[in-house]
Amino acid sequence: TISQVVIHRDGTMAAGTSTNGASHKVPGRVGDGAITGSGSYVDGEVGGCGATGDGDIMMRFLPCYQAVENMRRGMSPTEAAEDAVARMVRKYPGVSSGLIVVDRDGRHGGAASGWTFTYSYRGGDMDETKVVTVEPVEVER
Ligand code: ASP
Repeated sequence: TISQVVIHRDGTMAAGTSTNGASHKVPGRVGDGAITGSGSYVDGEVGGCGATGDGDIMMRFLPCYQAVENMRRGMSPTEAAEDAVARMVRKYPGVSSGLIVVDRDGRHGGAASGWTFTYSYRGGDMDETKVVTVEPVEVER
């Protein structure tokens, strides 16, 4: 899965997700990538999110919509991502997921469950891409 959140120099934001889908998927499966709010979501007044993982679970939670709404209510990108992932883990402890969350000012964070997740970022006057490693969230049940 390739998921991106981008901010144009004029402040316009966009997000998108592309995936080859789940292993052993049934023919015709669309998956979470194409579902707004699940595979990705953006509101340029707040920020955006991209997601990968077990789409058949994730699409029930719209984790990217949740993460953006979390930021709207004051959470940092990392807090917003962790909350969105924790909501899934509480119901499905085995879910594999990875979220990247970026606010409108370019602050970013991630959260994951079931695996160690990495994302990369680059912008402004950076002359190289940086990689961030995110350990799985710990969720009290
Ligand atoms: N979310 C994708 C799907 O379930 C798979 C992936 O992210 O690797 O179709």
